[in-house]
Amino acid sequence: MPEQLNRRDLLLSSACAAAGLSLGADGAAAQATLPPTPSCADGAAATQAQTEGPFFKPRSPQRADLREAGVGGRPVELSGQVLSRSCKPVAGALVDLWHADDKGQYDDRGFRCRGHVFADADGRYRFLTIMPALYPGRTRHFHVKVQAPNRPVLTTQLYFPADEQANRRDGLFRRELLMQVTQANEAFSARFDFVLDIG
Ligand code: FE
Repeated sequence: MPEQLNRRDLLLSSACAAAGLSLGADGAAAQATLPPTPSCADGAAATQAQTEGPFFKPRSPQRADLREAGVGGRPVELSGQVLSRSCKPVAGALVDLWHADDKGQYDDRGFRCRGHVFADADGRYRFLTIMPALYPGRTRHFHVKVQAPNRPVLTTQLYFPADEQANRRDGLFRRELLMQVTQANEAFSARFDFVLDIG
C-alpha cells in the first residue's frame, strides 16, 4: 500500500537526517563511543574534574604506602603517569590521594588512607593502599588532587570497573574516570593516567 510505504520512507529518511546532524554537530556521537579510561593519545583531553567531597584534609603525609596495622581491606596498587595535554610527562607533579577505609569511613582525626607523592622524572606515580569499601550513596572510588608544579590543582575521583551496579546508580560516576584494574590472587593493580590541562 503506497501510503504505508511513503510513511516508512519518511521515517527512515528523517532518522538518517537526525543521525547525520548529531554526527556533524560536535562529535557528540563519537564521544559516546570512546572507550573508558582514554589514553592521552586518544585525544589528549584533560582529565575531567569532579567534586572534592566533604572529606578532603590538607597536609597529608608524603608517603606512597598507605597500608597500616589495623586497616584491613585487600591491597591495591594504584599507579600511572601524570601527563600534559601534549602527552609529555609532568615531572614533580603532586598526587594527593584520600579514600574511605575498608569499613567505608574517612579518617577525619588522623591520616588513615591519606597521603601524597610526587611524580618521578617520567611523570610516574605509585601508591600501595587498600580497596575502599562502599559507603551509603556512593559507588566505590578514590579521591585525588593532582597538580603540576605551580599550576592549578585538578580535583577528581577514580572508579572501579567491577562495581557496575553501584557505578550505574551513582550520579557522579563517569566512565572516563574508570581505572584499568587487574587482579592477581588477593591483590589488585589499578592504573590511571592523568592528563592535566597544560600544554
Ligand atoms: Fe568519597
